[in-house]
Amino acid sequence: MKHKYHADRKPNDHPVYIHRNSNHPPNIIRSLPASISRRISAISHDEEIFKKAAPAYEEALKSSNYTEGLSYIAHQPTKNNRNRRRNIIWFNPPFSSNVATNIGGAFLKLINKHFPKTSKLHKIFNRNTVKVSYSCMPNIASIIKGHNKRIAATHTSKEEEACNCRKKDTCPLNGNCQASNIIYKAEVKTTDNCKTYIGLTEPPFKLRYGNHKMSLNHEKHQNATELSKHIWQLKKNNQPFTINWSIASRAKAYSNESKRCNLCLTEKLIIINADKRTLLNKRPELISKCRHENKFYINNSSPTTKHRQENHTHLRSEHRRKAKNPNNRTDAKENTPTAEHRTKSYKPTNRTDAKENTPAEQYTNNRIIPGNPDEDPIYSWSIT
Ligand SMILES: [Zn+2]
Ligand SMILES: [Zn+2]
Repeated sequence: MKHKYHADRKPNDHPVYIHRNSNHPPNIIRSLPASISRRISAISHDEEIFKKAAPAYEEALKSSNYTEGLSYIAHQPTKNNRNRRRNIIWFNPPFSSNVATNIGGAFLKLINKHFPKTSKLHKIFNRNTVKVSYSCMPNIASIIKGHNKRIAATHTSKEEEACNCRKKDTCPLNGNCQASNIIYKAEVKTTDNCKTYIGLTEPPFKLRYGNHKMSLNHEKHQNATELSKHIWQLKKNNQPFTINWSIASRAKAYSNESKRCNLCLTEKLIIINADKRTLLNKRPELISKCRHENKFYINNSSPTTKHRQENHTHLRSEHRRKAKNPNNRTDAKENTPTAEHRTKSYKPTNRTDAKENTPAEQYTNNRIIPGNPDEDPIYSWSIT
């Protein structure tokens, strides 16, 4: 077998394929034998070696109720004349054989109907750029696993503290400030109107609240969020206001298993459904990319980066501004009151920012808990 490569399997490794009658998109089942043929041919040096390897895989196919055998596909030099890659928009509806409607077909018909050749947007949305590929529903194993995980999770969260405010009546979220994986709503009421801001947080709300508080109290962070822009506008006009925080919804953030971020999706849904006249969020937020999957990448997994990310990325515009100017990043961080606070040992009464506040700021401060346990780095690492 010298200089000849072949399909290698460990002695106790037996291939298993999805059953012909399983609940999978038909094209996956249909193309399975051919794709196995292709794969085994590609890793076999020649047809003779392929024929030696094939029976084990044919056996596995047979036990999954396939009648097709495997056939050798001669190696062909790959030719790729196309240099430019199309930007393809994928639509990945979940597939279930219980659904009678041809979802993919109906979807593509809609593309044809609403973006005909005469349409301005036909160049972006046509059958070459928009494609459908079914995704699979979770299998029984992952349903059971998810169910068990959910039960175990509610068990521990009951033991966890819902609020760690020293004075419970000043809790920003009515005794739920430790809630995580939530979409929150801030209602800013003035004498003549009420504006809403929608935000989300994966770590406990209080961490996010600390950052919001900073942007509402320090003028140099006034452009951090749409909420702080609005508040600073009110402050400049000397308009009294109250901010009322509440939980709009709960959803799970991106996980490695689900590969979906329901937290981001739910936030977008709430923003879409909200009343546009009173909503502070801007439309571009709807196309922002999920940032919760970042921590699953190996190069982002150290606690330092994670902590920085959580503190940076939520302040969206600020983050964007800094990204343009990466050299500024560390210096800017050093100067923030938060960083200054962090370098000192944590003292509950240590409020450096309370003194030089304007009347309007004091008004907001009345709703704020003294001390910043959420800004203690060790504390936040343990929960993010
Ligand atoms: Zn609280
Ligand atoms: Zn997300």
